Amino acid sequence: MNDLYDRHRAVLPDWLALYYEDPIEITHGEGRHVWDSAGRRYLDFFGGILTTMTAHALPEVTKAVSEQAGRIIHSSTLYLNRPMVELAERIAQLSGIPDARVFFTTSGTEANDTALLLATAYRRSNTVLAMRNSYHGRSFSTVGITGNRSWSPSSLSPLQTLYVHGGVRTRGPFAHLDDAAFIVACVEDLKDLLGHTRPPAALIAEPVQGVGGFTSPPDGLYAAFRDVLREHGILWIADEVQTGWGRTGEHFWGWQAHGRSGPPDLLTFAKGIGNGMSIGGVVAGAEIMNCLDANSISTFGGTQITMAAGLANLNYLLEHDLQGNARRVGGLLIERLRAVAAGLPGVREVRGRGLMIGVELARPGTDEADPKAAAAVLEAAREGGLLIGKGGGHNTSALRIAPPLSLTVAEAEEGAAVLENALRAAY
Ligand code: PLP
Repeated sequence: MNDLYDRHRAVLPDWLALYYEDPIEITHGEGRHVWDSAGRRYLDFFGGILTTMTAHALPEVTKAVSEQAGRIIHSSTLYLNRPMVELAERIAQLSGIPDARVFFTTSGTEANDTALLLATAYRRSNTVLAMRNSYHGRSFSTVGITGNRSWSPSSLSPLQTLYVHGGVRTRGPFAHLDDAAFIVACVEDLKDLLGHTRPPAALIAEPVQGVGGFTSPPDGLYAAFRDVLREHGILWIADEVQTGWGRTGEHFWGWQAHGRSGPPDLLTFAKGIGNGMSIGGVVAGAEIMNCLDANSISTFGGTQITMAAGLANLNYLLEHDLQGNARRVGGLLIERLRAVAAGLPGVREVRGRGLMIGVELARPGTDEADPKAAAAVLEAAREGGLLIGKGGGHNTSALRIAPPLSLTVAEAEEGAAVLENALRAAY
């Protein structure tokens, strides 16, 4: 064990998750690679938990940040702020939400917190629908509604939350059904729930569950839900904290896989937009966004230095069609990993969209989760020079692969080879 680890343990909370038996300190990065304090180089297939959207140390972002730092880092939202207005204009237009307004926060948790505040105030109800196995953050309200209860065993949520089936396709009572029947069963479940409760303000859902192990429902589930929600005047909050910005390849936003229903009423974002700078936010139509009657500021939301990073990062993403890259390279990587999995009894499923790929492990010959094997694969991959992630809470049997969206084909092949060796060593 190293000295920094001892100091970490002495001063930081025990529940602050750390990867690896001998945790590493990342000192710098470039492109899709990072280096640790021992000088070892790693191919980064987890991108700072999906925050490094384009690339590490992207010169365009570095330049924008250092130029902005030389002018002003922060002036507060009490004054007009050009980079904040410019980024809001871009995101409002990309969101697809009519007459959109954008409120910037500093994290995904705070974005969801604000979305819940808006939805419950607008609908005057403190009942919320959330998906089983979901994750929405770690504040009092967001951890309280998070469906994966292992995150919040001691939470006394201020909201009344009801949980809906459908976020996970391969587990639960409807797993044996085909896609169409699965959707019907989930919709019936939702209708049944609505028959037993006061009208909820909103359904909050991740189009692809992130911490849940990169699991998604069949396309169209949220469109079918939406018809029911609309009948009852219930808002849809799409939590795009992991799925936004083209990560899923086919679509810019995860909700677009359920396109028939149109954009959500509220959309939350964070992670990738700042390429590591702390940006989160909520998008909603003007009527919902402006339903709060209090004058309010966010001290750090929209601060110039993060907005400069976000603008440069978003420009790079769009100019280099990284969404298309995620679709192409992600598609190849999924195929390659499926071929590897075919020969390994412990790999239950390789799933995903674009560069959001989940590999579910199980004890060979059973359906039982195998978190020990997942931990061993993580260690072996690191030894082979590859960083990957795993699911959280009840999902530590799922490996998570989410490299920066500029991943090349050669890097995808290199990473897949290391992962193949790590999986073979575990089984
Ligand atoms: N929503 C989703 C879907 C997430 O995956 C996360 C974090 O992993 C959050 C919200 C919380 O975001 P943050 O950690 O930036 O507060």
